[in-house]
Amino acid sequence: MRQFSPYVLLVLLLSCSQEEICLDADLVLTNSKIYTADIENNIAESVAIKDNFIIFVGSDEEAKSYKCNAKVMNLSNAFIYPGFIDSHVHLKATGYRELSLNLQGSKSLKEMLTSVQIHANGLEAGEWVIGRGWIEKKWPEGRFPTIGELDQISTDKPIVLERADGHAVIVNSYALTLADINKETKDPFGGKINRDKEGNPNGVLVDKASLLVENLIPKKTYKQEKQALEAGLEVNARMGWTQVHDAGSPLKDFEILKTIEAEDKLPIRVHLYVENTKDAQTFLDIGPFLDNQYWLTSRGIKLVADGAIGSRGAVFFRKYEDYDTEGLLILKKEDTMPTLITALKKGLQIETHAIGDLGNKIVLDWYEEAFQAIENQDRLINIPRWRIEHSQNIRPEDQIRFRDLEVIASMQPSHAIGDLHFAHKRLGYERLSNAYPWRNLLDLGVVIAGGSDAPVEIGDPRIEFKAAISRKDLDGFHDVGWHLEQAVTREEALKMFTIWGSYAVFEEDIKGSIEVGKLADFTIFSKDIMVIPEEEIMTAEVVNTIVGGKVVYSK
Ligand SMILES: [Zn+2]
Repeated sequence: MRQFSPYVLLVLLLSCSQEEICLDADLVLTNSKIYTADIENNIAESVAIKDNFIIFVGSDEEAKSYKCNAKVMNLSNAFIYPGFIDSHVHLKATGYRELSLNLQGSKSLKEMLTSVQIHANGLEAGEWVIGRGWIEKKWPEGRFPTIGELDQISTDKPIVLERADGHAVIVNSYALTLADINKETKDPFGGKINRDKEGNPNGVLVDKASLLVENLIPKKTYKQEKQALEAGLEVNARMGWTQVHDAGSPLKDFEILKTIEAEDKLPIRVHLYVENTKDAQTFLDIGPFLDNQYWLTSRGIKLVADGAIGSRGAVFFRKYEDYDTEGLLILKKEDTMPTLITALKKGLQIETHAIGDLGNKIVLDWYEEAFQAIENQDRLINIPRWRIEHSQNIRPEDQIRFRDLEVIASMQPSHAIGDLHFAHKRLGYERLSNAYPWRNLLDLGVVIAGGSDAPVEIGDPRIEFKAAISRKDLDGFHDVGWHLEQAVTREEALKMFTIWGSYAVFEEDIKGSIEVGKLADFTIFSKDIMVIPEEEIMTAEVVNTIVGGKVVYSK
């Protein structure tokens, strides 16, 4: 337990009384139970911080000499964990969720339509009615809204309601008219216009087909975008996250975040993956953006290979059980390989969204081909730590390839506990043995970086932690055939959201665990989530979020 820091030898020795030695520190967190998540999973009582860094971890007794000149926080009723890291977030969209029509909590289709109606009533004719976050599987009606129901709300305001997974929208007839989508319109590449029996569009636009309408929505102003990013940062700090990995955004967002940082309004650390537009090419030319303070960094590009299971866009070897489709591959190999090769040469990271078993296999194939094309000596980084986002359905032979290619599985436990209600209908029970194979991957030695995918999910670390250790939904429900044996231990869940998240962005030497010399990032809960019964985890409150030794959220 006792640790002597090299810093200790350098700090000023101040004498505050004749007998006592005073060691210099800015902040001491004391009288707590501290889960360090270090290699031995040590537990401590006190931690001392100086200039953003941890300079002492140990017992309350040993911490005494750091207290004389420091601010002291007595945390006798709280439990300290390394700063939680959300490895997959859409920061600006999370902010828009906070600022606009949020349909995430709707308990029924009827309730959702009512809130859309109220919102629409407050707008002028021609103004866009935009909502996000609906999810039919949580409703008693259990079905998508219909175009007729949206037409009843308005025929002179275009309505676009995005499903929580971001892979489908439902629009009204006026929006279809504005976008010139009719019976003759062909499906765009990577998208599907759903139709009724007569072949008329029924208002549901899947994956890239939604852009036919969404591209018509008036562009947000700079001010609105900045407000959304600020709201996203604020809600993440409140939830207890100390760093988020933004899963695919324009370079412009990075610039806005820089402005926010310059205004001293950046509460948490952000690592941004650049979206695969022409910005990705710019980034390949000029990236990465590193920061020796680790506040705002960017070293990778986000690609999207397929869709989601809910909207049946995730691509599988075999057809869905409940629809005549295998899903859609969105990426073209000839467009993708040059990006992979250049990224590898320049030491840039790639993260690719892949959900279906075929989607995962294809991405692994392309990664492998790129690795082979560039001999080790020509790569800037030996282990490029490329990631697959979601990695939800992986055949056993491909699970092994995650290990062999040293690919990081970036996974969101909350997706698993949402999917468990309907995945068997889409995929059949047999394929569920390859769904969210956390235990298998960890046993193989694959690194799993945990995330929430907010605003697709709520973005609450307690939900993610609980889902990872239980594989049951928040009511304790799990379906038959839902492979509870793939759950992880609490120690592993903690690492998924701390040190392994740091590994996923090359930062495990500087953060992710509570050790001397590391950045002073902590998430402090009111209950000991490492021991309390599963059903109590959601009652643990975030007491403080501390980033770089600064309290950025207090209950
Ligand atoms: Zn996402």
